Amino acid sequence: MVFDIAIVGAGASGLMLASLIKNKSVCLIEANEKIGQKIKVSGGAKCNITNEKVSSSNYLGDKEFIEDILKEFSNKELLNFLNKNRLFPKVNPKIVKGTYFCQSSQEVIDMFSSLTTHVKKYLKTKVLDISFEKNFFIKTNKNIIEAKKVVIASGGLSFESLGASSIAFDIAQKFGHNIIKTSPALVGFTVQKEQFWFKNLSGISAKVEIKIDKKSFYGSLLFAHKGCSGPVILNSSLYWQKGKILIDFLPNEKIEKFLKGNKKISTAFPLAKRFMTEFLKSIDIEDKAVSQLTKEEKNKLSILKNYEFCPAGTFGYSKAEVTKGGICTQEINHKTFESLKQKNLYFIGECLDITGELGGYNFQMVFSQAVKCANFLNE
Ligand SMILES: Cc1cc2nc3c(=O)[nH]c(=O)nc-3n(C[C@H](O)[C@H](O)[C@H](O)COP(=O)(O)OP(=O)(O)OC[C@H]3O[C@@H](n4cnc5c(N)ncnc54)[C@H](O)[C@@H]3O)c2cc1C
Repeated sequence: MVFDIAIVGAGASGLMLASLIKNKSVCLIEANEKIGQKIKVSGGAKCNITNEKVSSSNYLGDKEFIEDILKEFSNKELLNFLNKNRLFPKVNPKIVKGTYFCQSSQEVIDMFSSLTTHVKKYLKTKVLDISFEKNFFIKTNKNIIEAKKVVIASGGLSFESLGASSIAFDIAQKFGHNIIKTSPALVGFTVQKEQFWFKNLSGISAKVEIKIDKKSFYGSLLFAHKGCSGPVILNSSLYWQKGKILIDFLPNEKIEKFLKGNKKISTAFPLAKRFMTEFLKSIDIEDKAVSQLTKEEKNKLSILKNYEFCPAGTFGYSKAEVTKGGICTQEINHKTFESLKQKNLYFIGECLDITGELGGYNFQMVFSQAVKCANFLNE
């Protein structure tokens, strides 16, 4: 059988696309035993599916292209789509402002299962290569599947344990596409020896503001045994390109306010005592009454407001929520997602060089891309 459309990857973008294609023979090819494995673990198993406010400023990538994509299928339209399918996500701003969470990730997977019953699914089927000769021949670990059009929706490199592979980039390169350098993003930072004291604070969190590359993020920083993590760090990792970031451990506060009175330094600040003890050791100040601090020591302490930190690296793809970089979007038709190098070959989803911040922006983006692509394929 020759399929009209073969979709590689039954993840977020592939499932949305498959659910929308009408009156065509479609197959979904998925390496995992089950569909939507990344959806399953997303948002702590409650799938942070979109955000109250979504704009191109929440993404890295070609701004004009991003705006076009979001215009085609906005956050409101995604919520309407979900409501029609009896899913009613609710805003939970605890982690990131404006984030919509579902009741459970499984309900999203179940929705896509019932919307794709018309689609032939090849599960536990890993795509190894694709060749073209009048039609596409998709070589898998089990068989060869023939199709007139192929949509690559196989995601990026993060979380190999959930099925991620480099196949989108391998195929893109095979057909002459350029790949913008990829790196793990929405991921924790490892530290250099100046910050080894972070490791002694594993499990402690602090509300901080981070400034990086003209962006600033407010939220929780979590100290970890490898370095640091937490929402504010994950967001910073998206914009980090080697070099320093600035942490304000006392956001919206003036340091002078805490330098009065007779309390010990470790308890004078609205920060965990364990944090203050390690911090004081790192800047070589003994824990004593605030009133005994010298002018020089007070100056040293003021770095709590602008702590410069050069991460050693990141926790890597195995812990990263997304892959930054990807297939160059200048070589993709912005109306259809068709490759400008190979007719009838399409790329959607995280494999493209568009990456969103933490807070539901990545699902919104890949769903919007799938809708835009489906609207064209249904024409
Ligand atoms: C732990 C975690 C939590 C996350 N939480 C959120 C969240 O709450 N909100 C949010 O917006 N984003 C979240 N993300 C990011 C989001 O999951 C991705 O951006 C999104 O799933 C990308 O969609 P996609 O369709 O491009 O790729 P995916 O959803 O990754 O789907 C790609 C599919 O292709 C399959 N595949 C790969 N290679 C092959 C091959 N060779 N042959 C066959 N199949 C293959 C994979 O198994 C996978 O099923 C999270 C990511 C992770 C890792």
